[in-house]
Amino acid sequence: MGQQATKIVVLGGGYAGVIAALRLAGKTRQLDAEITLVNGLDHFVERLRLHELAMGQAIRQPPLAKMVRGTAVNFLHGWATAIDPEIQTVCVTTGDGGQTLPYDFLIYALGSLIEQRVPGVVEHAYLLDPFGERSARALQTRLAQLAPVDTVLVVGGGATGIEAACEIKAHYPQMAMKLVSSGAVGSFKGTRVQRHMLTALAEQGITLLENSRVETVHEAGVTLSDGRFLPAAVTVWCGGFQVPGLAHAAGLPVNRQNQLLVDPFLRSTACATIYAVGDAACPVDDPGTPMRMSLFVALVTGALAADNITAVLRYKNQKPLSFATYGQAVSLGPNDAVGFNTFPGDRPFGPMLRRKTAVYLRRFFVWLLFAFLQIERRLPGFFFWLGRGRFTRQQRKLKRKGTAVAPSKQVGYE
Ligand SMILES: Cc1cc2nc3c(=O)[nH]c(=O)nc-3n(C[C@H](O)[C@H](O)[C@H](O)COP(=O)(O)OP(=O)(O)OC[C@H]3O[C@@H](n4cnc5c(N)ncnc54)[C@H](O)[C@@H]3O)c2cc1C
Repeated sequence: MGQQATKIVVLGGGYAGVIAALRLAGKTRQLDAEITLVNGLDHFVERLRLHELAMGQAIRQPPLAKMVRGTAVNFLHGWATAIDPEIQTVCVTTGDGGQTLPYDFLIYALGSLIEQRVPGVVEHAYLLDPFGERSARALQTRLAQLAPVDTVLVVGGGATGIEAACEIKAHYPQMAMKLVSSGAVGSFKGTRVQRHMLTALAEQGITLLENSRVETVHEAGVTLSDGRFLPAAVTVWCGGFQVPGLAHAAGLPVNRQNQLLVDPFLRSTACATIYAVGDAACPVDDPGTPMRMSLFVALVTGALAADNITAVLRYKNQKPLSFATYGQAVSLGPNDAVGFNTFPGDRPFGPMLRRKTAVYLRRFFVWLLFAFLQIERRLPGFFFWLGRGRFTRQQRKLKRKGTAVAPSKQVGYE
């Protein structure tokens, strides 16, 4: 890599970006690398607890500068606004103006935000996003202003919508809560899991409106595709996820959700110096396990990108993305959840855990996955995962069948 230090820029300080930066710092200690972590907010956000933040609960928000203290990572507080893959630079807007950062390797870890394509969402709906005019915090303020008889609408029958509806209903039990979904509510993990979630929603007095597509959001409610108007004092939009558009604007191949298309080693299919991780990445070759936008996938891909860049710097072979999942838990309010085993291929099996046991289990894993970041800072390379042979097995299977391998879609957090 010549005389100069290798410049590695990590865009995005979520789970994927932070683990990538910390692991790289540890693994490239003798390799003369300069690592810069860029994030728009100056603190880390536990995104999966944003529905709790919206209810006024404290969630962990440590300063990113503190999370990387004592390592070789430089933290830059600013918003990335453009990438130029030709001359290998990133433009960042900071409090003091703008900066152009040159890079030898770029890790694209910008995560995702709630998708806002439906008319009126931007202007009128509240979102479980960490920043913006109608973010989780703004929702907290708005809910506190409502009268007990008001109606709250949550749009989205996936896990985010269910988690949001249950959390709000638990804190404002007197308000009418309606959950609107374009399909069936909670159908993302099979009928057993769905049954548990539907039971919980019924027990909590949440009204379901299934197979009802929202066409427009207004200040005072929503219009459905069949013309019906549903009045509501507040609409919370949980209708899917969208990745920021920087890669697309840079001319790199992305899918409909703006996820950067990557090869098995997590490199952009168009540019070998750009790696994508977490919610922002979509592998074009089937890794053998579904790529669900999730905290676990963010940690696995962040760690793998760090390992692969280190491998390039050491003239070693890179490893393909290959992993097994362990389990999933969906929060159903502060006192209920459903938890289940998904080892190894993200399909639920075995006994389902409910109520406080599932709540404690979910809390433990949320804590553990955050703790991995802190451990990685002290012991780089500590985070490990199972299922390293799944990619090769899947590719062999697909070759035997003669099937084209292009999922080009990472399923949203469900
Ligand atoms: C309400 C909710 C509940 C969820 N529950 C679960 C759950 O129970 N289990 C689970 O596994 N997953 C859950 N998820 C999904 C999970 O949070 C994400 O999959 C995970 O956070 C992805 O990590 P990431 O590092 O890829 O992205 P993020 O955590 O989104 O981090 C991306 C970072 O990039 C920063 N950024 C974005 N754009 C720019 C820019 N232009 N310049 C600089 N910085 C930028 C952002 O500020 C952010 O800090 C949930 C998500 C939500 C919203």
